[in-house]
Amino acid sequence: MHIRREATRSMKQFKTESKKLLDLMINSIYTNREIFLRELVSNASDAIDKLSFAALTDSSMSLDSDDLAIRIAFDEGARTVTVSDNGIGMSADELEENLGTIAHSGSEAFKAEHAEAQGDAMDIIGQFGVGFYSSFMVAERVRVISRAFGSDESWAWESDGIEGYTIEPAAEGERTTHGTDVILYLRPSTEADDTDRFLSEWGLRDLVKRYSNYVRHPIQMMVTKSEPVANPEDLPEDAPHYVEHQELETINSMTPIWKKRSSEVEQSDYDEFYKATFHDYADPARTISFHAEGAISYDALLFVPSEAPFDLYSKDYEKGLALYSSNVLIQEKCADLLPDYYNFVRGVVDSPDVTLNISRETLQQNAQLRAIAKRVERKIKSELQTMLADDREAYESFFENFGRGIKFGIYNSYGMNAGELADLLLFWSAKEEKYVTLREYVLAMPEGLDKILYASGDSRERLAKLPAVTGAVKRGYDVLLCTADVDEFMIQAMRSYHMDAVAGDAENPGVDARDLDLANVSTADLDLATEEEREEAEKTTKDNQGLFDAMAEKLGEKVSSVKVSASLTDAPACITTEGPISLEMERVMMQGPDAAMAPRAQRVLELNANHPVFAKLVAAQQDGDQDRLALYASLLYDQALLVEGLPVDDPVEFAKNVCSLM
Ligand code: ADP
Repeated sequence: MHIRREATRSMKQFKTESKKLLDLMINSIYTNREIFLRELVSNASDAIDKLSFAALTDSSMSLDSDDLAIRIAFDEGARTVTVSDNGIGMSADELEENLGTIAHSGSEAFKAEHAEAQGDAMDIIGQFGVGFYSSFMVAERVRVISRAFGSDESWAWESDGIEGYTIEPAAEGERTTHGTDVILYLRPSTEADDTDRFLSEWGLRDLVKRYSNYVRHPIQMMVTKSEPVANPEDLPEDAPHYVEHQELETINSMTPIWKKRSSEVEQSDYDEFYKATFHDYADPARTISFHAEGAISYDALLFVPSEAPFDLYSKDYEKGLALYSSNVLIQEKCADLLPDYYNFVRGVVDSPDVTLNISRETLQQNAQLRAIAKRVERKIKSELQTMLADDREAYESFFENFGRGIKFGIYNSYGMNAGELADLLLFWSAKEEKYVTLREYVLAMPEGLDKILYASGDSRERLAKLPAVTGAVKRGYDVLLCTADVDEFMIQAMRSYHMDAVAGDAENPGVDARDLDLANVSTADLDLATEEEREEAEKTTKDNQGLFDAMAEKLGEKVSSVKVSASLTDAPACITTEGPISLEMERVMMQGPDAAMAPRAQRVLELNANHPVFAKLVAAQQDGDQDRLALYASLLYDQALLVEGLPVDDPVEFAKNVCSLM
């Protein structure tokens, strides 16, 4: 729809959230103000990409791609810096839509709140890509003049970045061809905030080199060149021997960085490219560059971010790699190039062989893409493994950020991806009090243990104190403490862990491959006890069958049985479960949408026959004191629940019972 705007100035207000963000950004002491240029250049480059792409899909459009360029100019007197492009341009409606709201991707409210909580503009700019608005960090007024491709009208958007903006027809002659000029009226230069440096050839050139060197389109600027005069000997002595003239020069290298071999590129260049392209404020944690030649040739440059973007786990998040073919951006986020569990990876794949028949459907079918995706996946995995081996600290922080996706990868595939992903998992070890891999767990496993033990709940501290965990640790067994909601579901999906063999050599005996089940320490049929302890427990259970039946009866539906624990060491009692549902799974499911339908865990009350409390129970049974037995049963059950971090069924009843003891 086309809206004819009045020529009179009427100011539109920024939305409240946008105002907050702008205000934070402008007034914060953000040291990296100079990135505004990179943001504007990236937008200009995107606009050119969009135009080339449109020309590619619409054969009626005639476009000379050699003319496409970004221009940077400055005017010292007027204190302006102008970034221009002859890309797709914007109509009046698009100016309104694109520049009227900051970060219009949908979750503004969240962003503004988040920004306020953090009070840190750097994070905002990085994480939310407020790209264009970064110009207000250096400019007190910004004027954007744009003409959409195919239109004969130019429009001007203008704002001081505080209250609002105006949109009106551009002045006569301001822009007569498609594309956009962004004119920044710089703030006065101060000691703390030197804006003068942006009003010089070297200042701007330096920024382009640093931040935008690998932009694929030429970035041009008028530069001053000086040449020796032709016949200096004919000149008077004090006449200058050089003449100066102005010349349009392309100041960026233009070769896409992903086409270069990694040995030719400094890491800092990769970092800058990453930050500029993917709007991140932090350097990537890992950079992966590789090239393929043969049936399909391509260059790929991938990055593992060092922090998760704020929306990674929201449904708005779109995974994918940018897909280029012969320098034209085909798809900004080609999802088929990345498996879901590596959705955090960002990067570029460029292949002249990818068919330019660009409908999403055909891309999805594309066998070439599948082949590339396979290799991409292998590369990511091996890079992560290298990171795990070489830089443990970085890997742990990687895993804290992105581990959840990997765990979901195992869970969602019903364990089919477990072979691929299990060695990337980290777990918190109760014994070592640090992260371990499954492989490390198995290699450190003492003789006599043939399962990988884990416990799950909502906090490490609480889990570490569970009787089942302390009992296992006392026996010298390590327990993996799982605190993420997905953990236990993932473990159920994987069921067992296959550890690859390591070949031995002269000094090293090597390790055999092993398959081990993963077992919850709080399951009733898990037996960590020795043969003797087990026999002992069975005997005690048999001897006191009457007591246990009576207790089970008193507890009714709450438990499926009461028995003696072979493995409890200090605590008087604990709750274990029988069957596939553990207490933690029950808890997670009870929080879900189908809580009413969620299956319940089958609980077993296990008693420690060596604890003084047990003698009291036996005495009550012998005395035939049914009321006392009911009271004890109920108390033991409730306190075991509390130790597990679960709520008691009836807190009032529990409080009453405790008082009656006193
Ligand atoms: P982002 O680039 O992250 O989307 P920006 O705030 O920088 O966010 O820009 C908002 C939108 O404005 C862009 O998505 C684009 O549609 C439009 N835009 C910005 N600069 C230009 C330009 N030079 N030419 C055409 N459109 C532009």
